[in-house]
Amino acid sequence: MRLVRLAIIACLLTISAAPGGTQEIERIEPPSWWTGFEHRELQLMLHGNNISLLTPDIDHAGVSISRVVRVENPNYLFVYMDIGPDAEPGTFEIIFSEGNYTITRSYELRPRNSGPNHARGFTSADAIYLIMPDRFANGDPNNDEFYFLDDKLDRDDPYGRHGGDLQGIEDNLDYSAGMGFTSVWLNPVQEAAMPVASYHGYATTDHYTVDPRLGTNEQLRELAAEMKARGIGMIMDQVVNHIGSGHWWMDDLPASDWLNFQGDPVMTPHRRTTNMDPYASNHDTILHADGWFVESLPDLNQRNPLLADYLVQNSIWWVEYAGLQGIRVGSWPYLEKHFMSDWARRIMQEYPDFNVVGEEWSELPAVTSYWQRGGNKHDGYMSFLPSVFDFPVQAAFTRALKGDPDSFSGVWTSLYELVGMDFLYPEPMSLVIFPDNHEMDRIYAQLEENFDLYRMAMVYYATMRGIPQFFYGDEILASHPRASSHGELRSDFPGGWEGDAVNAFNGEGLTEQQRNAQQLVSRLLNWRKNNQTIHHGKFMHFAPIRNVYVYFRYDADNTVMVILNRDEDTVVLDTGRFAERIGDATHGTDVVSGKRFSIEDSLVLEPRSALLLELGE
Ligand code: CA
Repeated sequence: MRLVRLAIIACLLTISAAPGGTQEIERIEPPSWWTGFEHRELQLMLHGNNISLLTPDIDHAGVSISRVVRVENPNYLFVYMDIGPDAEPGTFEIIFSEGNYTITRSYELRPRNSGPNHARGFTSADAIYLIMPDRFANGDPNNDEFYFLDDKLDRDDPYGRHGGDLQGIEDNLDYSAGMGFTSVWLNPVQEAAMPVASYHGYATTDHYTVDPRLGTNEQLRELAAEMKARGIGMIMDQVVNHIGSGHWWMDDLPASDWLNFQGDPVMTPHRRTTNMDPYASNHDTILHADGWFVESLPDLNQRNPLLADYLVQNSIWWVEYAGLQGIRVGSWPYLEKHFMSDWARRIMQEYPDFNVVGEEWSELPAVTSYWQRGGNKHDGYMSFLPSVFDFPVQAAFTRALKGDPDSFSGVWTSLYELVGMDFLYPEPMSLVIFPDNHEMDRIYAQLEENFDLYRMAMVYYATMRGIPQFFYGDEILASHPRASSHGELRSDFPGGWEGDAVNAFNGEGLTEQQRNAQQLVSRLLNWRKNNQTIHHGKFMHFAPIRNVYVYFRYDADNTVMVILNRDEDTVVLDTGRFAERIGDATHGTDVVSGKRFSIEDSLVLEPRSALLLELGE
């Protein structure tokens, strides 16, 4: 593939004279940029045989070369340009020369999109649909495999490529929008040219190119635009911690400190709390952050300032290019934390209303809250990360549903106490709440396929404070044996492939229970979509009694009462103790069933049930 690329790029070059010329520029990254950013300096990374000897020159209004950095490897040249406020958008030439030898490359600066809704972040008014692109729908069977990519189509292999793509997501946007989702988080779409198990995308091999099996860069931008037209924003998964061992850098690393433990990898011991532990040793802290996950994922050294600039720019490039609604970054606590502070600061500086969510897989709010921006950290750490995933609530809620109703304190106490620790978060409403994701058991499997518990979970995640996220297929009870492989829990969405016996997009072949689940999620999310009280209202909960947990979402105009009964028996709930929130309301209408209940004295709760009541007279 590299040869093909080289040939294509060579055709684009204008070589005016090459006396003994051996220099060639194979790549310039970023491939284009924009005028109008707050941060004026732009780094161009150039790669090609012996190009460090070249000296660049440009002549374009408002643009100048601020510095040129050469590294150990003569095949790289880092050119920094100053793009002033009066820089003209347009294409100009960069002339690289050494003596009489010159190479000319054209470079494009586009005007930055200044529209008010461009790159506006997701908020608690949104509901996120997490899609693994290889597993959702195959909209273009022609891109299922390529001769130059080793990992071929194999739908029988849970870890193989299944053929899903961006076209498939676009073809089914009416479904996603109809379900009530307003955001789609795509697992990584950048090229992952790995020999096996490349489908999940978490091994980037080219930072600026969409994997051809998923589509093209242009298709990604088109998909984002089509989504926006249906009220859906795109959240892009960006891998900043590491690369795939098939990355083009690995054939010719720029410097001896490009990777951590370069040439002699050491695996991380996964001691994530070293990031905030006041007693942590340097030994543990460094080993944790610099260690690799596995040999096939080389760990990047973001302390190298050239690499740091490269990664920041790559993130901003995709935001501007596709008009993203957000970025999700996995492995947040494995990254060099001062770099990540700067990375997030740079993005938020350009897009103050943007959102980024980081993954810290801890069940302790003291740990997850450390990463959220705002507040005073005990060690003075400055974070600029708006959102984190609420792993503590995810774990505690499932544990509550699966708890022993006969236990002395009932099933809800731990969750109730945990949510009470929201004071640790600078912005609890910006937490992303979720029943599951692509790395854990499906919610229906977690709940041992108990539909009553599933219904309670869906009501909870649609109404709890924060930004709800569901994994594609949750809405049709996707499941698998417990502790099955990642490949299996990322099963194909039925109906996404021609000839599928079941089609969840139009309901054909779904079981009655699957249809009930789909209608439940659709009802909840479409109701939530227009409900200001859920989007921005306050949260109050009452101490659980026995196995009943009651909480309210409320604002000046409306009150929503959520009642979760995990008891195995019918419970009569005395409503008197909720007077401070119920006020003058006498009735509540259940959003799911449409039934009206008197709440003046008591309510009869079915076993294992949820009520979602809009209160009124
Ligand atoms: Ca395909």
